Amino acid sequence: MKFTVLGSGGCAVIPKPLCRCRICTQAREKGGPFERGGPAAFVHDENILIDTPAEICRQLNQSRIDTVSHLMLTHLDPDHMEGFRVVEQMTIDFRTWEAYPDKTIRLVMPQQLLDTFRHVNTAYGSLVSFYEKSGFLRCEPFDRKTMIGGIQVTALPVDRGDQVVYIYVFEKNGCRAVYAPCDIKPFPEQDPAVQHPDVLFIQPGLFETGLRHGFVYPDDHISRKTLYTFEQTVALSRRIQAKQVVFIHLEEYWHRSFTDYRALEADFDNMVFAWDGMTLTINKRGK
Ligand SMILES: [Zn+2]
Ligand SMILES: [Zn+2]
Repeated sequence: MKFTVLGSGGCAVIPKPLCRCRICTQAREKGGPFERGGPAAFVHDENILIDTPAEICRQLNQSRIDTVSHLMLTHLDPDHMEGFRVVEQMTIDFRTWEAYPDKTIRLVMPQQLLDTFRHVNTAYGSLVSFYEKSGFLRCEPFDRKTMIGGIQVTALPVDRGDQVVYIYVFEKNGCRAVYAPCDIKPFPEQDPAVQHPDVLFIQPGLFETGLRHGFVYPDDHISRKTLYTFEQTVALSRRIQAKQVVFIHLEEYWHRSFTDYRALEADFDNMVFAWDGMTLTINKRGK
């Protein structure tokens, strides 16, 4: 399986608009891997786009993606879906204001998440209903497992109380990739589906030191409810015996640059901090 991390940033992009911190200033000057757009990924084997942050149009162009057949959303927080209109932009034929028939995108989504998504409205009513009516997308809800071409996809819910977040497991030819970008606590680590992944895409969790303004997370900070700490995430990846770990959803407020992450990686032999456009191919186990 071949993956591209289209966007390696989190809730706030780098450079964050207006921000003059060291990280954002450097990103403006250097561009490239120092900049980070919102969280999105692409599975090349079946042209699956995962999540649609605000920057998704630019990200698809930068990574030279020329076909999107399927779309999956991990959850409905704005940093993962505010660029959803990319569906219209990719499919619309302005002669008819409907989709090119061969460009309709299959929205492959857990039924429970789709039920919630149908309630997301625009001034013209339900966003999903409008897109279906225009032929921009076709909904293909599933429960827990589905096949997308030659890839088996398993959806694991993370209960956040008022909203559910999904972790997706992609399997093909004995290879397993787990994609868990955001709000993944409590991680369903007892589920056999997440054990022994060839690659675990996961957010590193919050850092306790080196934050902007010298901020220290209090014990009762709201982020501790949805995020692990970096050390806890590393321990988690070892408990589920991930062969390789790719850290994604890297937040601006963690106040670390591309080179800072590179230095941190040196402490681990199987962990890498992603950058926008990073591509990774997973081969059959044992090879
Ligand atoms: Zn900044
Ligand atoms: Zn997020």
